[in-house]
Amino acid sequence: MSEGLVWLNGEILDFASAKVSVEDRGFQFGDGVYEVVRVYQGKPFALKEHLERLQRSAREIELPLPLSLADLAAAAEDLIARAGIAEAELYIQLTRGAARRNHLFPSDTPPTLVMTVRQVRLIPPELREQGIRALTVPDERWARCDIKSICLLPNVLAKERAHRAGAFEALFVREGVVTEGTSSNVFAWTGEELVTPVADHRILSGITRSFVLRLAQQHGYRTVERDLPLAELKSAREVIIAGTVTELLAVIAIDGEPVGEGTPGPIFRQLYAAYRNMIAERVR
Ligand code: PMP
Repeated sequence: MSEGLVWLNGEILDFASAKVSVEDRGFQFGDGVYEVVRVYQGKPFALKEHLERLQRSAREIELPLPLSLADLAAAAEDLIARAGIAEAELYIQLTRGAARRNHLFPSDTPPTLVMTVRQVRLIPPELREQGIRALTVPDERWARCDIKSICLLPNVLAKERAHRAGAFEALFVREGVVTEGTSSNVFAWTGEELVTPVADHRILSGITRSFVLRLAQQHGYRTVERDLPLAELKSAREVIIAGTVTELLAVIAIDGEPVGEGTPGPIFRQLYAAYRNMIAERVR
């Protein structure tokens, strides 16, 4: 198994030799967008959905994709095959290229497109079994969290704060409502319905989120997309976070207070099993 591979503007390299200019606008300004795709048994899961979201993020920041989605998919699949890592994470990062520092968009500068494939950082099985603790933090991010921007400083700071407080994830709260985690979407089971915040400009419209909503509906649960006040989240029977690398995790405590029984509940177990089954079917 390889250590992983990098695709940099069409060239395939190892991590040690792949270099980007110090003048890259990703480095200078955080001027770029990205995606992360989970690879199961050597096959990228929901690649099409991720590439479409990358295209949307790129359009929203007025950055044309240098390749068609079909060419990008082919390059990603080739990189995954060459890396030969069955359980991997594929990152795709697109920036506005390398140019002398100036806030204005450069003219005639090709974008930088990077893809990396590495062994996935698996969620420790005990966290899946026992659930995770979450810490709430003020959502101090910008007003376009629907764009998957590489500017992740607020997410980095929040995750670090959570970690220092003994929690696995930080949940952002804006004007009394929960928006999302630093790299996950959030769901609350009230006993009657599965509530998740609306996919507006306040959150990233998660691909895992869409699958969770669909699976919950298929299992006969009522799902609702609306504002989720923090007090309601804290009094929910179950809280679940979902994301590409996270998959689904049960939140058993928020700010040190137990959620429901303080253990992963039946809705989590059912939806996580359904999610894994769906993946098994898709990557067969
Ligand atoms: N919100 C944020 C801020 C994220 O970074 C992620 C992870 N990509 C998600 C939600 C979950 O999105 P997805 O299910 O598409 O990975």
